[in-house]
This record gives sequence, structure tokens and C-alpha cells, in this order.
Amino acid sequence: MKYQLIIIGAGVWGTSAALAAAQYGLKSILLIEANNGVATESSAKAGGIVTDLVWNPEDVSWVQRSRILYQRAFAKSQDRSILQRYGMLTLAEPSRAALLEKRAGGLLDRGIAAQLWDVARITENFPQLDRLRRDTVALWTPEDFHVNPTAYAEATVSEARDLGLSLRLGHPVTAIRLESRQVAVEVGGEIVMGDNVLVAAGTWTRKLLQPIGFQLPMRPYRVQLSSLDFPHGYHLPILWELATDVYLVPDGPHNLLAGDGTRLFEHDPDHYQTTGDEEFESTIAGHVIDLMSRADTAGLRTSWAGLCASTPDRRPLVGPVADRLFVACGDQGFGVMRGPALGELAAQIVLGEAQAPHLNPLRYPLTDFPIRPGFTLEEDV
Ligand SMILES: Cc1cc2nc3c(=O)[nH]c(=O)nc-3n(C[C@H](O)[C@H](O)[C@H](O)COP(=O)(O)OP(=O)(O)OC[C@H]3O[C@@H](n4cnc5c(N)ncnc54)[C@H](O)[C@@H]3O)c2cc1C
Repeated sequence: MKYQLIIIGAGVWGTSAALAAAQYGLKSILLIEANNGVATESSAKAGGIVTDLVWNPEDVSWVQRSRILYQRAFAKSQDRSILQRYGMLTLAEPSRAALLEKRAGGLLDRGIAAQLWDVARITENFPQLDRLRRDTVALWTPEDFHVNPTAYAEATVSEARDLGLSLRLGHPVTAIRLESRQVAVEVGGEIVMGDNVLVAAGTWTRKLLQPIGFQLPMRPYRVQLSSLDFPHGYHLPILWELATDVYLVPDGPHNLLAGDGTRLFEHDPDHYQTTGDEEFESTIAGHVIDLMSRADTAGLRTSWAGLCASTPDRRPLVGPVADRLFVACGDQGFGVMRGPALGELAAQIVLGEAQAPHLNPLRYPLTDFPIRPGFTLEEDV
């Protein structure tokens, strides 16, 4: 079989690229996913936070474009879990008040709602946060929302299939071969040919390209999340506590997701512990109890770990690595909030509709660069 475009990996990035390419009018697109469903790896394990409180202006634009694409999927789909608008409260010590003020100013300049709150204002709106220090300061960003990436990816693929997308689930791509005027992809014991191939295989992307001589500068690291059971329910927005780097995400009336457990050393996507560490589970529970007495009666439902990919400059790797062969990866731990936009950008680059030389996937050699998280509030931008 021969396709105009083959996309490898059906996470948020790959499914978004598939829909964008179909909307551009490509008639034969094949999306290949190793697992039996779409968005079952990192995209399924994410907290699903979508916020404009990111440090790079280009990221703000990608979050804003992704918001539009999430809202569009929500409006078209019957699945109400795709998006929930909770707002986000970023909590900080007084020493970081000036930074929050600067960030609030930056958001307001872009027309994005943001307010600085003191502890009285916080507890007036969210009384269950009854254990905050009296000098806590906060930035309230009411437009921030939570998404269900799997529901979004399913809706996106369904729309793309209506436009002619072919989907192949349950078989990993085992080899890619560059030929003079096309790219051969081996999957399920067969060879399929593509005029162009986009590899959006998340933290596996480096492993897929290594055998044909491309050394992508990305290093996978492990991130953990717990789901806590609040038998009596709770009323909270998305919370991000800068001092501990703990974040909490509402996930239904009784479940609260709680994360912080970034392990900044390299992991192999085929061999890593996919459950949470005991130490992580007890530390995160302690952090939540420090924020509110309601957590005293909460229990651990489950915990898990997924991988994110760091790059030397913490910017994504999106673009060609060879004639007809493209990649989109390097999420830095906040690829759900930018994924729809970056998938779309990757499709545009493949189709010659956009260029992003600064995201050139091979702009750095693969060296032993330090792994750094990307979703941080930087002091000096
Ligand atoms: C615990 C945790 C919490 C997170 N929280 C957030 C958050 O709140 N907000 C946020 O923005 N981001 C968050 N992230 C990051 C986010 O999950 C990722 O940035 C995003 O999911 C990346 O999407 P992706 O499509 O690139 O990768 P993936 O979702 O991993 O998709 C890649 C796909 O490629 C497939 N694949 C791999 N190899 C092959 C092959 N050989 N053949 C075919 N298919 C293949 C995989 O099966 C997978 O489905 C979090 C991550 C973790 C782990």
C-alpha cells in the first residue's frame, strides 16, 4: 500500500497532525499506533492541565492555539469529558510575589485573565484550602482548564476518519527505511510506503530513528501522578504550589490527581516502572494534607508513572530529519497543553505550509545534556 502521508504514533501530537493533514486535503493518510487504542501512553497518563502560565512566548501561542482546537473538539463531540474549565491557582511564598505579579502583567497584556490573590481571597473562594500559611500569595488564572487527552484524541481521529484517514492499531512500526523517492515503513510484517512519514511516537521517537542513523537529542524521564479518593468530595480548582512543585487536578467529584514526582534521569521507554513509587505516594499525600484538612480522610486510589522527553534547550523537536522524513517530539512534560498546536504545525511543515528552522530536530547532537523539566515558572524571562 502507498500513502501520501504516514504518521507513526497516535498520542495527542500524532492524532492532531493527522486531522490537520486531512483538513489540508490530503486524501491518503495512514496513522499507525502500536497499542490497541489512541492516546494510551503519555497522553493518557497526563494530569491534563492546560494553562497559559508557561515561560516561552512561543509556548503561550501554542497553548492558545491548542485551546481553540480542544474547544473545537469539545463543541463537535458528544464526549463532555474532553474539557473542564476549573481555573488554576498558583500558590507561592511571599518571596515570589514579584514574579507572580510580573507573570500576571504578561498575561493581562495578552488579554488573558489573571488576578493576584492574598490568602483571604483564596479561602473566600476555596475555603477547603484551610492550611495555607497566612502569607501565601497566589495567581488566579480563571481560563485554565483540564482536558482528557484520550477523549480528545478519539474525537480527533473520528473526525479525521470522516475525512478519509486510515487507522492501524495494535502493531508497532518495527523499521523505517529511506528510499530515493519515498519512505518504507515496516508494520505487522508488511511494508507500507509513504510519500512522507511523520514520526510522532513520543518518547520512543529516538529509538525508532536510531537504526537509520539519526540521533535525536532527546532524553526520556519519568513523571508520576497519584489519584486520591476524597469520599466526601471537594471543591478545588487546579492548584500548583511553587514551593513544592506539587500540582493538583480535579478529576471528577471524588478523585483528585496529585503530582510532583519528576525523576530527572534517563529512562528507557520499553523498560521503566509504570506504577508510582511508594516514597512518591507518601510524600505527595503529605503535601496535600499540608494544604487542607479535608485531605486527612482522603485515601490513595492508585498511582502511575509515564515518560516525558527532555531536549537540550527544552524546546520541541519538530521538522525534517531527512528528505520526506519528519519528527514531532520533545514534549518537556507539558505536551498536552501544546500538543494540538504542535501536531498541526508538524502537518503544516510536512505539507510545506510552514517552516520552523529553530525547531530543527537535529539542531543539537545527542550528548549527555542535563534533563530539566519544562513546565516551570522561570525567574528571568
Ligand atoms: C504523569 C504525567 C503528567 C503529565 N501532565 C501533563 C499536564 O498536566 N499537562 C501537559 O500539558 N502535559 C502533561 N504531561 C506530558 C504529556 O503527557 C505529554 O507531553 C504528551 O502526552 C505527549 O504526547 P505525544 O503524542 O507526543 O506522546 P504519546 O502520548 O506517548 O504518544 C506517542 C504514541 O506513539 C506510539 N508509538 C510508540 N512507538 C511506536 C511504534 N514503533 N509504532 C507505532 N506507534 C508507536 C505510542 O504507543 C504512543 O501512543 C504529563 C506527562 C506525565 C507522564
